[in-house]
Amino acid sequence: MSELAEHLRTVRARVDAAARAAGRDPASVALLAVSKTWPADDVASLAALGQRDFGENRVQELVAKARELEGVAVRWHFVGQLQRNKAAAVARLGAVVHSLDREALVAVLGRVGEEAGRPVEVYVQVDLGGPEGELAARGGAAPGDVPALADAVAGQAGLRLAGLMAVAPRGEEPAAAFGRLAELSARVRADHPEAVGISAGMSGDLEAAVAAGSTVVRVGTAIFGRRLLPSPSDAAHQPRESHQSHGPRGSE
Ligand SMILES: *Cc1c(COP(=O)(O)O)cnc(C)c1O
Repeated sequence: MSELAEHLRTVRARVDAAARAAGRDPASVALLAVSKTWPADDVASLAALGQRDFGENRVQELVAKARELEGVAVRWHFVGQLQRNKAAAVARLGAVVHSLDREALVAVLGRVGEEAGRPVEVYVQVDLGGPEGELAARGGAAPGDVPALADAVAGQAGLRLAGLMAVAPRGEEPAAAFGRLAELSARVRADHPEAVGISAGMSGDLEAAVAAGSTVVRVGTAIFGRRLLPSPSDAAHQPRESHQSHGPRGSE
């Protein structure tokens, strides 16, 4: 518990320092704790410390944790690749979806929002590509497809367009990639002024993301420690050299 508290405090301090360095109000950057692979108990501990927002990238794990933590004041976020046949289950939990990357999900999620009488909050995920301009395949829509996708989300009564989300590609300075995300966000906001959210930055690159205008950083490792269980997206971000290594929690 105290170790989680310390990590949480350290990460929040990093976010705040990055915001101040960029001339931004620290309160303008939310911290999303990515709890994938970690037990519901850890989420409960962090919730008791005042952490409100938690992210998961597998539907089954999200549903199970949400059930275990019924009655605990947490707000769930889904950050993983979303299959169409599981999208409704995510939306029914009231989770914020950070990974809408194709038109097929718009109607499915929108229907749940309409039925619930409460719109599902949605970020359109962007594939920021690699240094050579090809798609990085870390999830997300091609940048050229993003404006139309944003229009589709904004046009659905059951959805609220929150903004854009991305994972920095490998093999490139994250600052350059987050810069492209910020430009695309400005383009989308020209048509959808309400879509001010930018979900960007993880344990290894949150400073660069905040400098580029991120409004939500998604942090797993720097809060919970190194994941011992495999997570589908880990293969994609293993080679990043800048991870802070905490070693497995409990064995220190
Ligand atoms: C796992 C994950 C994170 C958190 O990554 P860390 O490097 O552990 O901070 C953020 N975003 C997405 C989409 C993830 O899958």
